Amino acid sequence: MIQTRTASSIAERLRELQLDVERGVWEQRLRDVTAHDVEAALTSRSGVYSLNKLLALVSPAAEPYLERMAELSRALTLQRFGRAIRLYVPLYVSNYCVNKCRYCGFNCSNDFERVHLTIEEALNEADVLASEGFRDVLLVSGEDKAFVTVDYLAELAARLRERFGFVGAEIYQMSADDYGRLFEAGIEGITLYQETYDRDEYAHYHPAGPKADYDVRLRGPDDMATAGMREIGLGVLLGLADWRIETLALAEHASYMMKRYWQSRISFSFPRLRPACGVSTREFPHLLSDRNLVQMMLALRLCFADAGLVLSTRESRRLRDHLVGLGVTRLSAGSRTNPGGYTHANAASEQFAVDDSRRPAEVAAMLSERGFEPVWKDWDRAFQGR
Ligand code: SF4
Repeated sequence: MIQTRTASSIAERLRELQLDVERGVWEQRLRDVTAHDVEAALTSRSGVYSLNKLLALVSPAAEPYLERMAELSRALTLQRFGRAIRLYVPLYVSNYCVNKCRYCGFNCSNDFERVHLTIEEALNEADVLASEGFRDVLLVSGEDKAFVTVDYLAELAARLRERFGFVGAEIYQMSADDYGRLFEAGIEGITLYQETYDRDEYAHYHPAGPKADYDVRLRGPDDMATAGMREIGLGVLLGLADWRIETLALAEHASYMMKRYWQSRISFSFPRLRPACGVSTREFPHLLSDRNLVQMMLALRLCFADAGLVLSTRESRRLRDHLVGLGVTRLSAGSRTNPGGYTHANAASEQFAVDDSRRPAEVAAMLSERGFEPVWKDWDRAFQGR
């Protein structure tokens, strides 16, 4: 039995558990899980986390129990979130980046024409998105501090709040003070992927640039919560390391955040590696199957009743449709992953290739056909009837 205790930082907790280095002990623990352990996890209180429970649910021994996990996850998600699925759309403002992440098309080693949008150009993109019905927008940018400054993001966020009920961001990491400025300007949620919790893999995939420091990256969510962010997104890039152990580390991070920052809601995102400029998925030994991804999502739902589960258009139409009702709470739709992509058909190079290319209205229609309500605006306001 692995004991739960309160560590002073997430880095300390991961080190204590050996979830960041020399993970062989976890490979063995995963192999040692029995059907009896899985059944005990499934009969424990649904939606409540313990590391032992999650270990059982992500183990190979749990694979024959996917249907049962799906039933429990469906019931729990309906109870906590009803039939509402929140729709959002990314708005890419720059593909300049100073980092060398080996898995990303915006990697500064890649040679292609770079673009960043002025405030007015970004607002033109936003107009298109607003006209499609979106009221929830996600600002996305590479690490481009020369142009995409905190001032730029704050000004853009303030202008976007005139048209959108919720503005989130997936941007470069910054200080708690700068996150505070963005919060004041209207950005209420930030997602910051650790990419991988395995220190050796992290060093391999981030050979240069500010993002190369694992420990600095790991402190980012603490800084966001300190700044008052209402929603904090966590995740790994699936394909960089063993997904089962990554899920355990991710859950420990979420649990740590929930204990300290009760005012921030935690969500999980599930980006799987996709082909991109200069990136072939054949180079990555830890790719996971659709079944693995479903198991990961269900296991997290059964441990975190109130966490948002976010699925992007990286995934196929078939898989996304299948996961509606099984735990997902938020879907992107109609996404373009290049700056200017909504107003110019042949705009700049994209970060990765999307798989589900349906228009937003088609995704909304699919939800309605399945008895779910597509929610285009802010989640809390939707529930509060505002
Ligand atoms: S993942 Fe982000 S930081 Fe890394 S190269 Fe891509 S845009 Fe830059």
